[in-house]
Amino acid sequence: MIPSIKTSRPARIWPGAIQAIAAGALLAALVLLAACRTEAGAPSAGRMAVVTSNVILADFARQVGGDRVAVTSLIPPGVDLHSFQTTPQDSVTISRARVIITNGMGLDDFLLPVLDAAKQPGAVHVAASAGLENLQEEPAADAHATEDDHQAEAPHFWLDPLLAVHYVERIRDGLVQADPSGAATYQANADRYLQQLRDLDREIAQTLEQVPPAHRHLVTYHNAFGYFARRYGWQTSSFLEATGGDVTPTQISAVMGQLRAQGIPAVFAEPQFRSDVLEQAARDAGVPVGIVYTDVLDATVPTYIDLMRYNAKSLVQYLK
Ligand SMILES: [Zn+2]
Repeated sequence: MIPSIKTSRPARIWPGAIQAIAAGALLAALVLLAACRTEAGAPSAGRMAVVTSNVILADFARQVGGDRVAVTSLIPPGVDLHSFQTTPQDSVTISRARVIITNGMGLDDFLLPVLDAAKQPGAVHVAASAGLENLQEEPAADAHATEDDHQAEAPHFWLDPLLAVHYVERIRDGLVQADPSGAATYQANADRYLQQLRDLDREIAQTLEQVPPAHRHLVTYHNAFGYFARRYGWQTSSFLEATGGDVTPTQISAVMGQLRAQGIPAVFAEPQFRSDVLEQAARDAGVPVGIVYTDVLDATVPTYIDLMRYNAKSLVQYLK
């Protein structure tokens, strides 16, 4: 977690001594924060500083950049990016970066004003999803909800490994542009990693064969699996649209009604979201709740490839 730094002044009624202690505590917090970030954030020993919006993009950048880059994710591991807010320290981190990598397509566009204000002249900005075609979402069960523009946006391209290939190619090109003397290294690292992604795609397709076709319906809390579903011929439904908003009772009963009608044996929670609503709906329907990962990495899935393997195994475990 990032400690949030309050910039407001202490109330005037505080005695001076307490103000001094408070100031000292703030300073200590800043030093601690800087120390926490140094390993990943500061341009260490000749490495090129790279900033990404989230941990998935950071993993891609490390795979391609290897020892030549020092990568920092603005949104820390485990934090829901849909509700993330930047701190003053983030602007410092951004100002050091020679390459800035975002997802685009509505996912992290809220960061653009901060990035534009803080970035150094000449920094290369890679919008990893640029050039990919946005999947048109199915209209939500609640017709009124479709009036929200965000519902048309589906930014979770990376959950299809072949679209992750596109991300990695763009990241490779951005690193080469910012650091041409490393071109051969970036090219070689990217080639190796792109092969792993194509192998991953085949492996997932094979793993998912274990799920009976009638059960190939992934029900999640937030709407992230559109590209995954399209790639592997699945159906997907969610309680919450891709870019946030509120869960409505109408949406929940529509999703759970479909699940019961099709005999789908489980629903899936994501570690970065509170799952009470999903768990209650699952209890009512008498089905278990599995886990899938979408936007975060953690000790269980430290890399993107681990995330994708975990999801495929989880789907088999609960839906076969
Ligand atoms: Zn998401």
